[in-house]
Amino acid sequence: MMKSLKKHIARALVALMAVSIPMAAMPAPKAEASLLGSVISAVATGIQVNQVKSAMEYYNNDEQGRQELFEAMKEQQGVNDDPELNARLASLMESLSTSVAAVDPSINDKPYNYFVNADTTFNAACSLGHNMTVNTGLFDLIDNDSEIAVVLGHEMAHGQKDHVIKGFEKSIPTTIIAGAIAGSGSTAGAAAANVIANYTSAVNITKPQEWEADNIAFDYICASDYNIGACAAIWQRVIEKKGASGSKNFVGEIFSPSDHPTHEERRDNYARKLSEYSHGHVTAANGTVKVYGHDFVTPAAYGSMSSNERAYFVAGNLARAFHNNEAPDEAYLYNGTLYIDNQAIITPVEGDESASSLCDELNALLSLRRTENVA
Ligand SMILES: [Zn+2]
Repeated sequence: MMKSLKKHIARALVALMAVSIPMAAMPAPKAEASLLGSVISAVATGIQVNQVKSAMEYYNNDEQGRQELFEAMKEQQGVNDDPELNARLASLMESLSTSVAAVDPSINDKPYNYFVNADTTFNAACSLGHNMTVNTGLFDLIDNDSEIAVVLGHEMAHGQKDHVIKGFEKSIPTTIIAGAIAGSGSTAGAAAANVIANYTSAVNITKPQEWEADNIAFDYICASDYNIGACAAIWQRVIEKKGASGSKNFVGEIFSPSDHPTHEERRDNYARKLSEYSHGHVTAANGTVKVYGHDFVTPAAYGSMSSNERAYFVAGNLARAFHNNEAPDEAYLYNGTLYIDNQAIITPVEGDESASSLCDELNALLSLRRTENVA
């Protein structure tokens, strides 16, 4: 392929291939439906099918191809150069890549490209070729790295499982891509890319793939140092913020709403997985954390975090402790923080019970298991 042709195709593909978490605002394709009508109705020829296949392969797996796509993504979406956000994203992606490699070493052959784009809605997306774009708005809604790591881990799971290319093949008629390829280098090509941009959300993925990405992201977080409770907590946060600020910054209803898991289902799936990870000894629901089936703590709200959201973080810490040691001897206080073994559990804040009473209660629960052989 000629270089300029490749560049045009890359631009068209940028718009098409992003698989995004179903949280962000995406333009609906309605306005362009009539423009596309004639293209969609055309039947792809064998030549077109092959052209599209080799273009997909080039941008997904060829090193030069995926770098071209990455540059085209940056050009189209704009880059936010804010040094603090970029340093944060780099640190998150480095840690996560190490965790992904522990679960799936194939990442080492195709390490992720990533950048912060200027969009202030809440989204991150993984395109072909392990190219990640992260909205500035993601950092506005989430102030803790563990929850951001869950979102990025979800996108990386889509990347690792090639959900992007699979969704792409299913969602977008070959003739549209072939049309973009044929039109490249002319105004028709640019027009096709713009039309196609409205179909980004149509490349979205199936419900089973969405669940798969959530579950794999959980494994990545378990393999990292991030709080595993953040998996349920981020969905709790989305439920609360979406309720408070309206759905302006969230996708929710736009793409096949009935076919995607709800925020509540995703939160509850993660809460179940957290409990499993703790060997069934820890649960969290409705703001209350239980140990061995007994109430332990209902944490106060803190900062931008509600009581419900914070409960998942406390449960995440406990789940780590119980995962590593099913029958810990005792909890203890160190510098105002409650610990089991080397795992911090909770640092009480205003509105919480005192550290010493939480410590006593947790120790009472731990000794309960020893005497009654609970759970
Ligand atoms: Zn997803």
